[in-house]
Amino acid sequence: MTAALIDGKAVAARVRAKVAEAAGELRARGVVPGLAVVLVGENPASQIYVRSKAKAAREAGVDAFDHKLSAETSQAELLALVRRLNGDPAVDGILVQLPLPPQIDSRVVLEAISPAKDVDGFHPENVGLLTVGMPRFVPCTPKGCMLLLGEAGATLRGSRALVVGRSNIVGKPMALLLAAADATVTLAHSKTRDLAGEVGRAEIVVAAVGKAEMIRGDWIRDGAVVIDVGQNKRDDGKLVGDVEFEAARARARAITPVPGGVGPMTIAMLLDSTIESARRRAAR
Ligand code: NAP
Repeated sequence: MTAALIDGKAVAARVRAKVAEAAGELRARGVVPGLAVVLVGENPASQIYVRSKAKAAREAGVDAFDHKLSAETSQAELLALVRRLNGDPAVDGILVQLPLPPQIDSRVVLEAISPAKDVDGFHPENVGLLTVGMPRFVPCTPKGCMLLLGEAGATLRGSRALVVGRSNIVGKPMALLLAAADATVTLAHSKTRDLAGEVGRAEIVVAAVGKAEMIRGDWIRDGAVVIDVGQNKRDDGKLVGDVEFEAARARARAITPVPGGVGPMTIAMLLDSTIESARRRAAR
């Protein structure tokens, strides 16, 4: 079997077109959706992410408010900005780009963001709502992965799903979303005893580890659906996922490529969540 490719670029483009349509409707009703993007310091990767997020927002008709702070910014200064944005009626979503410089405790900052504007879904209140089955803002990457599973026509109900990686931003919320969709979920991590065996049993595999091609293609069960969240630069400069792509493709039914799979979904889902927030404002 050669797996079908799950085209994240195309799905993300559709989401962005829907966002643009919704933004137009909101604007016509006098509600301009707004996203505040906060960057502290000069981390080159963060600068690129922040620039693409703001650009994508503007292209979709969402106002983007850029806040670039120096690497020496104190925690108190950043908290003061977050509080100001919490109270700004033009701001529907607040995104503080991680990582933050060492003098700032990112937990404290993420908890200071109003849960009603926490479009990244990292605030404990939003994590709790997802956990009890009343999701408000869901972290963007796993939210995008769910859409890609839908695109692949994956049957989630009753399926054995394996999530590899248990981070707060990808693995854990992904496992919760799959369980909410009635999959039977296993959450693997660095202490998992027999990862190859776990992968071999899974009808759905979501890999979010951050180690180039560590999930071998011949571990994949025939006909599985594989979502590869990993983004790893190999020594030869090539961007690869956590899954050994070609070998996995020979066994899976559908698989996301890297790049062009999960990557484009994250920003699209961020805009989607910002629209969700602006709609709540319009309804008030
Ligand atoms: P993370 O916070 O570093 O978490 C990695 C997870 O992988 C941890 O739970 C760790 O287990 C587990 N792990 C490490 N080695 C393992 C092994 N040998 N076997 C099984 N599990 C192992 O990473 P993250 O932030 O979730 O990101 C994961 C990957 O996704 C990265 O490549 C990142 O670049 C990518 N990513 C992509 C997007 C996007 O495409 N938009 C967004 C976010 C992240 P322990 O908990 O036991 O340490």
